[in-house]
Amino acid sequence: MEAKQTFVWPEGQRCAVSLTYDDALPVHHKMVAPLLTAKRFTGTFNISAHRGFTENTGAWKHVASLGHELGNHTLFHPCRRDPDRPKGSWVPHYDLCDYSVQRWTDEMRVANCLLNQIDGQSERTFGNTCCHTSIGRGDHEKDLSELIDRMFVAGRGPLNNEIVRPASLSYPALGHFNGDRKSFVDIQQDIERAGDMNGWIIFMIHGVGKGTHKGFIDTDEHKQLIDYLEANSSRIWTASMVRVAKHLRSAGYETTPNKAIADDA
Ligand SMILES: [Zn+2]
Repeated sequence: MEAKQTFVWPEGQRCAVSLTYDDALPVHHKMVAPLLTAKRFTGTFNISAHRGFTENTGAWKHVASLGHELGNHTLFHPCRRDPDRPKGSWVPHYDLCDYSVQRWTDEMRVANCLLNQIDGQSERTFGNTCCHTSIGRGDHEKDLSELIDRMFVAGRGPLNNEIVRPASLSYPALGHFNGDRKSFVDIQQDIERAGDMNGWIIFMIHGVGKGTHKGFIDTDEHKQLIDYLEANSSRIWTASMVRVAKHLRSAGYETTPNKAIADDA
């Protein structure tokens, strides 16, 4: 595909923003989804099907009915438990180092099936757990890009603070930013940089407000962010990951060869 000099987002905006909220927290369906809907935005809510989901599937069905994406955040929230990694959000007994291709694929297939029963959708994105991008260990460690590409429209890759460039991207390993513990001003600066690049910026957020998760963005900072996105909606497109990825794919943008393998930093 020939590189486009000026990429035009759906309504002529300068950039796209995707807000992804992880771990199926109550604050997401109680406060965040209605707030985004009130501004006519869609977000991505990454669901780990075993926790925060099974207790309240009706709430998530309502979130999906508002047009938001329910992203696949696995069934059991496995993360890598490598000895040299700092201790993260590990769930005992679910270690990505122990996962084979078959086990990973089986788990994601069941998670997709569960989510399909809630939202009726057959296309969605993958929100990686603990931002980890591989399974297995040692010589058998395998990057997930190829597997994600088979099952999903797109997926988050490394947490690398990289703005996605439409002309040079990898759909199964999209770079992203952390939104937890960030001020609105810091996030705004990153979004403005995305605007300068005609790019797509993806944020990973857990809780919104103190007490909602150990990683969270302050409620007021989050509200300032949403108000800013609304005030600037003529130049910033705020939409779920699946919507933005499908828009780019329909515009002819494909994974570029040199971006095909994620950097498991
Ligand atoms: Zn998570």
